[in-house]
Parts: sequence; C-alpha cells; structure tokens
Amino acid sequence: MTFWNSLSKEQLKELYSSTLKEYEACKGKGLKLDMSRGKPGSDQLDLSNDMLSMSLDTFKCDGVETRNYGVLEGLESCRELFAQILGVQADQVFIGGNASLNLMYDVIAKAYTHGLKNSPAPWAKLDKVKFLCPVPGYDRHFTISSTFGMEMINIPMTEDGPDMDRVEEAVKDPLVKGIWCVPKFSNPQGIVYSGATIERMAALKPAAPDFTIMWDNAYVVHEFEGEFVPLPDIVSACAKAGNPDMVYEFASTSKITFPGAGVGAFASSVGNIEYMKKLISAQTIGYDKINQYRHVRYFGNLDGILEHMRKHAKIMRPKFDIVIKYLDERVAPFGIASYHCPKGGYFVSLETMPGCAKRTHALAKDAGVTLTGAGATYPNGKDPLDSNLRIAPSFPPVQELEMAMDVLCTCVKMASLEKLINE
Ligand code: PLP
Repeated sequence: MTFWNSLSKEQLKELYSSTLKEYEACKGKGLKLDMSRGKPGSDQLDLSNDMLSMSLDTFKCDGVETRNYGVLEGLESCRELFAQILGVQADQVFIGGNASLNLMYDVIAKAYTHGLKNSPAPWAKLDKVKFLCPVPGYDRHFTISSTFGMEMINIPMTEDGPDMDRVEEAVKDPLVKGIWCVPKFSNPQGIVYSGATIERMAALKPAAPDFTIMWDNAYVVHEFEGEFVPLPDIVSACAKAGNPDMVYEFASTSKITFPGAGVGAFASSVGNIEYMKKLISAQTIGYDKINQYRHVRYFGNLDGILEHMRKHAKIMRPKFDIVIKYLDERVAPFGIASYHCPKGGYFVSLETMPGCAKRTHALAKDAGVTLTGAGATYPNGKDPLDSNLRIAPSFPPVQELEMAMDVLCTCVKMASLEKLINE
C-alpha cells in the first residue's frame, strides 16, 4: 500500500471522490453514536450490582458504627484495601468521598487558601503559579489548573512517560509548583511510566519547597490485556529520595464499581495526611463510611479487586480490539495517522496529520459520531499541532462501536485528503 503523501494531486483527487461517497453513505445512515467520554458500559456497571443488595449485617466495621459520624480519614479496613491497591501503607492513605477528582481539586484548593505542608505561603498570595502538564493529557486536570489561573506548561510525553529532561529543567523555576501525572495507562495514550521515569520523578530537586506531584493513578488495576503489573510505589520512592512530602497519589473505585458512587482516596506521607486531615476537618465531619464498608465487604482485598477487574477486562478487550483493527486496516496503511495500542485504561490516542484533528472531529460530528473535542487533551484546549484525538470505546455496545469506528476512519481519510490536496 502506498503512503498518501507520495501520491500525485490527480491520484489524491480520485481518492477524495471515492472517499466522499463513502462519507456521504455514512451520513445517510442517520447515526447517533457517542465515543466522547471514558464511561463504563452498562454491562460493566452490572458487574457490581450485587454490592447494592448485599446485607451489611451490623453495620459495624473494625468496631466502628459506619452509619454514624466519625473517623474522618476513613475506615481502617478501607485504608488497608487502598494501601494494597496502591502498594503503600494503610497509615499513608486517606479515604475521601465518591470520587478522586474532588480530592485532587481539594489539594490544589488548599494549596491556594492555606498552603501545603511545606509552603512558604499560600499559592493565592503569589503573583504567578506554574504547573507542568504532560501532553496529551487529561482535560479535567487542566481544567482544575485553569480555574485557579495557573500558567500551564506543556511537557511532551514519551513512550516512558513525561520527558524527564524537560521536567528536571522546568522545576528549577521556583514558580513551578507541581505536575499532573497519570502514571499507568495514561489518559489518553495508555502509556505506562517506566521505572526509570518514576525514579527520576521521585528524585526531582525542585526550587519550590512545596512542589507537588499530582500522581493520578486512576487506572492502577485496569489492565484489560495480561495480568496485573504493579507500578513502583511513588510514595516510598519520594521518601527514599529525600522528598517525603512531594507527592499526592490518587485513586478511586469509579471504574471498578460505580462512577459517581464509588470511593475515592489519596496516599501520601503520614505528615501530609495529618496536615490535610486538619484542614479537611473544617469542611466535613466525615465521608460515606457505609459505602466504604460495602466496598470492603464486597472485595475483601486486592485479590478480590483483581478478580473483579478480570471481568471488566473481558468486556473491554474486544472493544479495544475493534478500535485497533479498524485503525490497522483503514488508516495505518496510508500513513495518515499514528496511535498507541494500550494494554489497559480507557482510551486510544490518535495522532492525525498536523492540522487534521478539528476537521476530523467536525466531519464525524456531522455524520452522527461524537468524539472528545479536538484540543481537549491539551491545556486551554489548544493542541499546537491540531493533531490529537481521543477515542473512548468503553461506552458504546460492540455493534455501535464498529459503526462509529467505520465513520471515524472515513473522516480521518477525508480530512487527510483535503489537507494533502490543498498543500
Ligand atoms: N483521573 C483520570 C486520569 C481519569 O481519566 C478520570 C476519569 O475519566 C478520573 C480521574 C476521574 O476519577 P474519579 O471518578 O475518581 O473522580
């Protein structure tokens, strides 16, 4: 197969007219398909239904009455469960409410209002706060940074995680206060940070004493291919490197049980947990211990979680296989886009030719397929090359996904041909 960038204008125009016919046929189907957000499909939600009808007997866990106020840091058994998931100690875990994003927002909000444990001053008192954003990345991280008025600095992703040469250089600036990281099955590329990247991250020597790694381990147990592979524990890696308070690690059961009705947690040094507990005690008497208890009873331990995740994997794997099959057959042979083939997580990241992401998105929308907005994977929605698109295959049923991928591939071809013809 010939790469399209080596074809003559005449050949490209011929291809364009046949692709346009394909596209018009797609449009004629009147589809309404959504591949925009990383939501579990309803069959995945069904996997946890028994948790809702399970009897909790006495409502007592670890001798604690789960129906009443108290135990701000969370049930001991639930801290232990998350400690096993994250590979940390139970006293390094704080259990929060229904989701982890809220805890991430809270840590940043507290940095602004009160300062973090080692802050010389609350960030709100500073003229400028800068934050490192590995790109492409998770739009909601960037939204948190943007609501607080941070200046976001793009850090390119490599196959091993963020470009650590760039990170090490950037942290010499005392205004650089932190970095967003999704270390396992990154959103959107599905990249797993290498051991060397994790070591270098933990050993950073930032100029800001309160520089904070926001280690969002959202996909910590979310392999859909192969067995669970634990990541090195960032909390102890930071401690070993002499930076015990430099990291907050986040996780939740949103994509294990129920998004919006799961349990969120963070792990950090015992000192940071104590510091945060004091601040959080002003905003709540305690989180939902009944839900914490339900999760503990339902899973028991890490083995229980992993057994459950194998059921998710059985549903997810065929969907990712469809995405990759379509891209392999319909896009790759023409040299018009590249993509990763992740082994876990929720996304496939597609790199179109520069300048083609927005156009592909618009064409897909007109043909009834909603994708995450082009640019969403970059701070302030600005993808400098206009080339990244995030594909989220989990929500549509298999048959719909096939139709959506058919449309998407046609749209990538259309946008690429338009570009090549007009170049
Ligand atoms: N972090 C990442 C990287 C995500 O992709 C998502 C959801 O898509 C979340 C966090 C949201 O997690 P939670 O539901 O625990 O707030």
